[in-house]
Amino acid sequence: MGVKWEKDAEELLRRVPFFVRKRVKRAVEKYVSRKGRGRVTARDLLEAKEALRDRASKVEEGFAVEDCFGCDNAVISSDALPSQVEEVLRRAGLTEFLQKKAGEELKHHHQFRVVFSCCPNACSQGQIRDVAFIGRVEPVVQGPCSRCGACEEACEEGAIRLTDSGPQIDPTKCLGCGACIKVCPEGTIREGQKGYRLLVGGKLGRHPRLATELLPLVPKEEVLRVVEALVNLYKELNEKGERLGTVIQRVGWQKFCESFRDRLQQGGEVR
Ligand code: SF4
Ligand code: SF4
Ligand code: SF4
Repeated sequence: MGVKWEKDAEELLRRVPFFVRKRVKRAVEKYVSRKGRGRVTARDLLEAKEALRDRASKVEEGFAVEDCFGCDNAVISSDALPSQVEEVLRRAGLTEFLQKKAGEELKHHHQFRVVFSCCPNACSQGQIRDVAFIGRVEPVVQGPCSRCGACEEACEEGAIRLTDSGPQIDPTKCLGCGACIKVCPEGTIREGQKGYRLLVGGKLGRHPRLATELLPLVPKEEVLRVVEALVNLYKELNEKGERLGTVIQRVGWQKFCESFRDRLQQGGEVR
């Protein structure tokens, strides 16, 4: 026999948005059946809602690594890097470490989040993640220029000024999007060094913080070494499972940068 709904519970259910109502109804009935009851009261519905919300917010691992979708704007391809970074974080025992520090089941807000974006548009929202690798390519000017002006027009940052001797690029404005390289018909602007801008310490929540640039350009082959240094430092400085941004706020940016440089020089395996 099916589960019966009391009037007050039905009334509450009617307030659930119609496009999820059926799903909520099924989930509540399952919850009530598991408890060995055959009727849904308003209280059951509220309890089930809490339990489901709680279960949905639990996570298996103490970290998450995301990639961007990748599109024509990409200046670099992350390839196997996201899964290799996951492996570094797993080897570092981050899940067990955070479980111990947090003293409770891990939830989304405990996770150490790393993202990759394949261009400076940063669709994967690196500004609010613990660690963000944002693709960039350095434009290099070399050889004769026909002064067509395409590069100046393509640069959304106003970083290019066309002079009699060719384009001049202001490195303080350039984000490394590569648009000028793509449009140059003469090959005068070419790809220079390529890699990732590294941002750290972004988070949302009660005390949001936008990520800060730690390194302007990390070559692809250095990414894993950088992550190893960061995760080691994070574990050393962590007190109660707090996010990297909170750790940085507590120790201060200057000290954090110095300690990071030390760890990077020491190199070595994750601990
Ligand atoms: S970050 Fe860049 S490459 Fe990745 S999806 Fe966004 S626009 Fe495309
Ligand atoms: S790489 Fe992008 S931001 Fe830099 S100069 Fe070229 S178009 Fe401008
Ligand atoms: S797009 Fe190339 S050829 Fe045209 S002005 Fe710029 S550098 Fe010169």
